[in-house]
Amino acid sequence: MNKENVLITGSTSGIGLATARVLAAQGFNLMLNGLESDAEGSALAEGLRREFGVKASYCQADLANTGQLQQLIAEAQADLGPIGVLVNNAGIQFTSSLEEFPPEKWDVIIAVNLSAAFHTMQRLMPAMQQEGWGRVINIASVHGLVASPNKAAYCAAKHGLVGLSKVAALEYAEHGVTVNCICPGWTDTPILNHQFNEYAKTHGVSFEEAKLGLIQTKAPYPELISPEAIGRMIQFLISDSADAITGTSIPIDGGWTAQ
Ligand code: NAD
Repeated sequence: MNKENVLITGSTSGIGLATARVLAAQGFNLMLNGLESDAEGSALAEGLRREFGVKASYCQADLANTGQLQQLIAEAQADLGPIGVLVNNAGIQFTSSLEEFPPEKWDVIIAVNLSAAFHTMQRLMPAMQQEGWGRVINIASVHGLVASPNKAAYCAAKHGLVGLSKVAALEYAEHGVTVNCICPGWTDTPILNHQFNEYAKTHGVSFEEAKLGLIQTKAPYPELISPEAIGRMIQFLISDSADAITGTSIPIDGGWTAQ
C-alpha cells in the first residue's frame, strides 16, 4: 500500500525537516531531498531510522534540473515503493525591486518553487490514482494569496502553485487523491535570515529585534510560527479526516491575510 510512503522535497532544513520528524514519529516512511551533500542528508535519514524505526533515505537533487528531479522520484520509488504522499516543499527566496530583479533569479525561483511541483505531480499522481488514494500537499505561502513589494518571482511562483493545486484537485477529486496548499506566514527557518539581517542593518537594531520588527510589519501574531506546526497540519491533511478537503489553500499566518 502507498499510504505510508512520503516524499518531501527540500527536507534537510526548516519546514521540510520538521515535517519529516512529525511524520516519522507517526510511522511514515520518508524520502528526504535537498541540495546538501549525500553525507549530510544521509546522516539525517539515518537519524530518523534510528529514532523512529521507519524507512528513510536521502537523495541530493537540484529540483531546477529535471534530470535530477526524475532521479529523485526513481530513488524514492525504488527505496520505499509506491509514493502515496507528496509534499512539495523545496523553495528559495530573493528580494529586489521589479526593475532590478535579476532575470536568472526569476528563472531559478520559478523553476524550484513552481515548475518542480508540476513535474513531481505529473510523474507521481497517475500512480496515486491507480491505487485509489493519494495526498499532495504543496507548501505555498501567504505570498500565494497576497503580495509584498520586492518579491516578484516568489509571489508569482506561489500564486502559480495555488492555481496549479486547484486544477490538480479538480482533476483528481473523483480518484481518491487530494491536493491542498498550506500558506505559511513568518515561520522560524533559515530562509528568513537574509531578510532579518537586512532589516537589522536598515533599522540599526539587533537580529532578535529585527525578527520582531519585521514580523509586525505584516502579522498581528507577534511570534515566528514553529515549523512543526506546519508539519502537524500536513499530518492532518494526510489523515482520513481530510478525505474531503481538496483544492484549498490553508493559511497558517498569524492573521496576516485576515487584514
Ligand atoms: P529552508 O531554507 O529552511 O529550507 C529549504 C529547503 O529547500 C532545504 O532543504 C534546501 O536544501 C531545499 N532546496 C532549496 N533549493 C533547492 C533546490 N534547487 N532543489 C532541491 N532542494 C532545494 O526554508 P523553509 O522556510 O523551510 O522553506 C520551505 C518552504 O516553505 C519553501 O517553499 C518556502 O517558500 C515556504 N515558506 C516558508 C516561509 C517561512 O517564513 N519560513 C513562509 C512561507 C512559505
